[in-house]
Amino acid sequence: MVRPLEHKVALVTGAAKGIGQGIARQLALQGAAVVVADIDAETGQLATAELQELGAKASFIETDISLEEQIIAAVNHAKTHYGGLDILVNNAGINLSYDATTMISQEWDAAMSIDLKGAWLCAKYAIPEMRARGQGAIINIASVHATMTTYNVFPYAAAKAGLVGLTKSLALDWGKHNIRAVAVSPGWVLSDVVQKSFAEHKNGLQQEVVEASIPAKFIAVPDDIGHLVAFLASDNARYITGTEIVIDGGISARFAEQ
Ligand code: NAD
Repeated sequence: MVRPLEHKVALVTGAAKGIGQGIARQLALQGAAVVVADIDAETGQLATAELQELGAKASFIETDISLEEQIIAAVNHAKTHYGGLDILVNNAGINLSYDATTMISQEWDAAMSIDLKGAWLCAKYAIPEMRARGQGAIINIASVHATMTTYNVFPYAAAKAGLVGLTKSLALDWGKHNIRAVAVSPGWVLSDVVQKSFAEHKNGLQQEVVEASIPAKFIAVPDDIGHLVAFLASDNARYITGTEIVIDGGISARFAEQ
């Protein structure tokens, strides 16, 4: 069976759990060698072992994407272990909520360093490796909050909108070198952090109520996002660049009732 990502090397940030783990799994199943880069070493090692059990080439590197030297080390890890880098998935992110009038600069900088700046820095060091390979795909995991948001999602929505802008700039500037950039904007996904929010009834959230509000009537699982990213990372998606692909079960097609 031909696997579209055979001989490609991928680096996935935040791949220890949640959406990143689903993406890493699907890239591995399509034949890619996967570098799992995450701040959580214990869970990251477990996720990497799962990929190896699937028969994939996979390794873990402890990485905090808010630290430039650790990003450089992660990209170098891909090069030394697998000979280069073809696919970068900027997935690691945190959904922090602040009051815009009381948030302090350090909190803004900390939020942006993970949700926006880290993606740029990963691209900064990945692109030269992709140029050396003559090809590359950068997939940035944004959110439906990039284009339509709700109350108390500050500054997450701002960061995700920035990530879509970053995607477009990268696509324009590096397209001539056969490097594509695509933003993927999920709606609700049953990742670890979302499961925890439901369990704790954070903001009064109830899973059944959320599911009923989604046109598709269910919440995606991380591998749903993984299937899309695996396609976008493959040469079958060679004409898809500089755009945002929404994967949200239809929620952004509908006006809110109130
Ligand atoms: P999650 O919290 O379940 O998993 C996030 C992973 O990122 C964890 O493994 C965590 O250890 C890692 N991480 C956190 N900070 C890091 C850092 N500084 N450096 C490296 N790794 C770090 O989250 P998730 O729900 O799977 O979200 C993944 C991405 O998808 C995020 O960018 C999020 O904004 C986006 N997203 C999620 C949803 C959803 O409904 N779950 C919807 C839209 C977009």
